[in-house]
Amino acid sequence: MEKAERKEKREKAKENRRAVRRVLGFMLKTAWKERPSLFLLYAAFFAGQCIQKVQIVVLPKFLLDELMLVLGGGAVSAHLRNAVLYVALIGGLNLFSNILTNIAGSVRSVWEEWFNEYFETMLAGHAMQMDFEHTEDPEALDQLSRAKEGISWYSGGVVGILNSVYDMLLNVTVIAGVGVIILFTCPLLFPVQLLALFLMTLLNAKNNRLETEVYAELAKSNRIFGYYFFQLSDFSYGKEIRLYDSAEMMRQKAEAINEEITGTWRRLGKGQTRYSWGMDIVNALRDGISYFYIGLLAITKRITVGDFSMCVASASELYQGMRGLTFAWMDIAKRCNYANQFLKFLEYPAALEKGSREVTGETHTIEFCHVGFRYPRSEQYVLKDINLKISSGEHLSVVGLNGAGKTTFIKLLCRLYDVTEGEILVDGVNIREYSEEAYRKLFAVVFQDFKLFAFTLRENIAFGENANDEKINEVLTLAGFYEDAQKLPEGLDTMLYKSFDEHGTELSGGQQQKTAIARALYRDAPIVILDEPTAALDPVAEYDIYRRFDCLVGNKTAIYISHRLSSCKFCDRIAVFADNTIKEYGTHDELAGKKDGIYAEMFATQAQYYVEHAS
Ligand code: ADP
Repeated sequence: MEKAERKEKREKAKENRRAVRRVLGFMLKTAWKERPSLFLLYAAFFAGQCIQKVQIVVLPKFLLDELMLVLGGGAVSAHLRNAVLYVALIGGLNLFSNILTNIAGSVRSVWEEWFNEYFETMLAGHAMQMDFEHTEDPEALDQLSRAKEGISWYSGGVVGILNSVYDMLLNVTVIAGVGVIILFTCPLLFPVQLLALFLMTLLNAKNNRLETEVYAELAKSNRIFGYYFFQLSDFSYGKEIRLYDSAEMMRQKAEAINEEITGTWRRLGKGQTRYSWGMDIVNALRDGISYFYIGLLAITKRITVGDFSMCVASASELYQGMRGLTFAWMDIAKRCNYANQFLKFLEYPAALEKGSREVTGETHTIEFCHVGFRYPRSEQYVLKDINLKISSGEHLSVVGLNGAGKTTFIKLLCRLYDVTEGEILVDGVNIREYSEEAYRKLFAVVFQDFKLFAFTLRENIAFGENANDEKINEVLTLAGFYEDAQKLPEGLDTMLYKSFDEHGTELSGGQQQKTAIARALYRDAPIVILDEPTAALDPVAEYDIYRRFDCLVGNKTAIYISHRLSSCKFCDRIAVFADNTIKEYGTHDELAGKKDGIYAEMFATQAQYYVEHAS
């Protein structure tokens, strides 16, 4: 192996150990904080299973010794009474330990579910709070899905990991217990069992390696086969398949890959048979040698018949215990490494610098100073040298063709992303200095792709617990949705969509828009922004909505975005975005009169829509 490769392997092992320590600490702390009774549960399991082991390994020895004494001509009544006592004890303990472990088992599965939901909620909470920029970062999204899979399914969550830790402790206890017995009665069993375990682990590791290899091969072949199969059965490929006569070629390719897959499975089967034969032989030798040795001890009367039975049971428990310990350790390492993905997600570095300054005052000025921006992982500037001042109470219309950077401009203003160059000032202060929470309160935005949730109408507008119905009705009226909302089956309590409630309502496109607008008005923020939530409407309907919204907004600062000119006539200023920057800026009259101006041209083309409606 290359030196570099060895070093990498060592580093990986170190990283894995670190993950195990971290995850174990986190899981134990979480379990202790949230459900300390879980430890009591494991204590009950431990007690139950230790009792079971005593009853399997130790008690039969005493029973057999009593019986042998009877057979050997001892005082029948006394030994028989003892024997009956041992039988009762074995039966009683068996029953007791079974009841204990069954009860603990069913409570444990309830906690298992509880913890799965606990972590999912934690994950969702974190995903909702992480910087918006991460929602478009493939690396962050991958980490989220690794975290999701890692915390529940693959690692088994708190309970899965505690189970493995518990298995380790139980096996250590069992090994120690039967170890003492073996040491004093049949010490040579130790090397026999250890050698068997070593050989079994070796064979098992080879088997695992073969499986991993084969599955990697199969993943590729299956993907290729899936592609042919998909094309063969997908009607949307029908034209190409028929017109280019490609069905036969596809079938042949699918058959060839199918042959390959079958060959790989055959290779796996052969290898597995070889290793399982090897394991069977090791097992048989181990048992044969152990029995021979213990039998010899018994025949030469160095141990009693009871000891013989105890040694046989101890040998089996020792082997199972050592095997269980190795598996439990491998299991912990595997589970912790999966669960570590969850911790990595929780610690995913923030994309934005966090400020702490509070926003004060009622009126706010906004200033863009030489702002340039390119999206993360992109080389191209979407906005360049943007300079703009928006006074408090001003109504600004932002226009430009699709892709000109209008939405990006709003995203920067709302600080969903940080600028690449220059700065944005609100009330003369760089917006990075404000606390995120305080800063976001300044804005009520209705984006083009606004989303309503499968909650009630009230919750969609007011979100929080202290919804003020009077105010909701007021904003519904302003948004022109009050009358319609009254007709909904359960008024404000009507569920939107049918995801969770079969009586849920599917609002029409226009009603959804009005709800989104009502939500923005309810927020009562000093700066309101409409980012083309009306793009699906025709120009006239869009114009009407913008005009009505402008009346509702009153003295607040308002920014309207459109690639049409719906909002321009009633706005104080217009900013025309083109070629990644603000190309024209001024009032409607100034821009409309500009010779060869972009706005003047747009207006001339689109004027027909607005002539009758503009008042
Ligand atoms: P507009 O709102 O004027 O239609 P946008 O601000 O949505 O324009 O987009 C401006 C440019 O930025 C477009 O070229 C678009 O492809 C690009 N863009 C938008 N969003 C992203 C993103 N999340 N990542 C990378 N590029 C983006």
